[in-house]
Amino acid sequence: MSFQNLGLAPALLRALTEQGYTEPTPIQSAAIPPALEGRDLLAGAQTGTGKTAAFALPLLERLYVSARQPTQAKAPRALILTPTRELAAQIQDSVRAYGKHLGARSTTVFGGVGINPQIDALRRGVDILIATPGRLIDHIQQRTVDLSRVEVLVLDEADRMLDMGFLPSIKRILGHLPRQNRITWLFSATFAPEIKALASEFMRTPVEIQIAKPNSVAATVAHRVHPVDSARKRDLLLHLLANDARQTLVFGRTKHGADKLAKMLDKAGLRAAAIHGNKSQNQRTRALADFKNGKIHVLVATDIAARGLDIDQLPLVINHDLPMVAEDYVHRIGRTGRAGAQGMAISLVSHEEEGLLRDIRRLLKQEIEIVPVAGFEPSRQLRTDDGASARPTQKQRPARPSGNAARHHHAGKTAAPGAGQARKRRRKPAGQRNSRPA
Ligand code: AMP
Repeated sequence: MSFQNLGLAPALLRALTEQGYTEPTPIQSAAIPPALEGRDLLAGAQTGTGKTAAFALPLLERLYVSARQPTQAKAPRALILTPTRELAAQIQDSVRAYGKHLGARSTTVFGGVGINPQIDALRRGVDILIATPGRLIDHIQQRTVDLSRVEVLVLDEADRMLDMGFLPSIKRILGHLPRQNRITWLFSATFAPEIKALASEFMRTPVEIQIAKPNSVAATVAHRVHPVDSARKRDLLLHLLANDARQTLVFGRTKHGADKLAKMLDKAGLRAAAIHGNKSQNQRTRALADFKNGKIHVLVATDIAARGLDIDQLPLVINHDLPMVAEDYVHRIGRTGRAGAQGMAISLVSHEEEGLLRDIRRLLKQEIEIVPVAGFEPSRQLRTDDGASARPTQKQRPARPSGNAARHHHAGKTAAPGAGQARKRRRKPAGQRNSRPA
């Protein structure tokens, strides 16, 4: 299957070639043809599948190529609702990149920044409005946006918008859109009953598309927490990576933190690179290619940068920091254990992050084993017992496992570093896997 076969205009094909895309991803092959026909879509696809292009390309085609009379109207003809400002900015980047030979006019509207520049941009006129629900409601209330001309509505990451409590806002926004002749494309990683209800209320017999298995994390991923003081996280990370030959994706919380980690790892002789929002698309593409072809062993990413990563079957993800939002844990881990392959998700957790860990455990509904690493035991014990799910009993084990009765599988190896030296391999006894379901 090629992009030509999907029926996209030459101006779009040219932009795709410039982006380095050679062939459509499965969600693109499945979504673009019915979208171009004007059908409603109910698409199950996670981030990283190429879903942004799956809606942005047919949107651009409809608005600028197949429209009978491209209007010079000021009111937006397409509305893309998305949960976060980062995603809004990312979608805007994609729309600009794909629509650059079409003169696409788009703007973003999200909270946390001044509203006046947004009002000015809306006044000047746009075709494509990319918005988070909260700020769009502000504009509706101030009558600074006119949604009566919207022909295409995209609900991006609908499940996350729901999780974030945006359902009432979305319904309110829908009340301001035309009901007749409107096309709706809903993208969601999962389909909770509320999303199905929303779809049946506001969509016309949508084409249903399901790409990859939805619903959180693959069952083939093992989750493990290493409790550690925050000041020792870097040493522990280095220790783990030095003892593991597998390609590893490491998550940091901030761009700056990710950069520092990558530099530290690189200095220590591990081939590492950082990938985050401050890097150009070229730098990101190169780092990703190097990671895929094995030139780079460790890729350090932030949540936002990682949203765009398309990496299959990653064996190991290490969270240097837990994400601030539990759902991001699922997104991070979504890259491991795909297609039945065994995956491992390791999180370095300091006691300051106890609350975040609790949220993740609740969301995952899956056990996370708590495994102290010899030589890196935290000065304060990690309390994870939320009284609901699990009762970890954190007995510290001696650095040197006694006996070999319970040799653990590969990923469980830990080394006892002598004063920061972390080179020797040792296996950890299974008895050290010490959190149990209640
Ligand atoms: P998304 O799932 O929309 O966040 O996209 C994931 C990443 O895949 C983004 O970095 C896109 O630029 C990239 N991408 C999307 N479609 C393709 C394609 N057909 N070929 C190569 N890369 C793509």
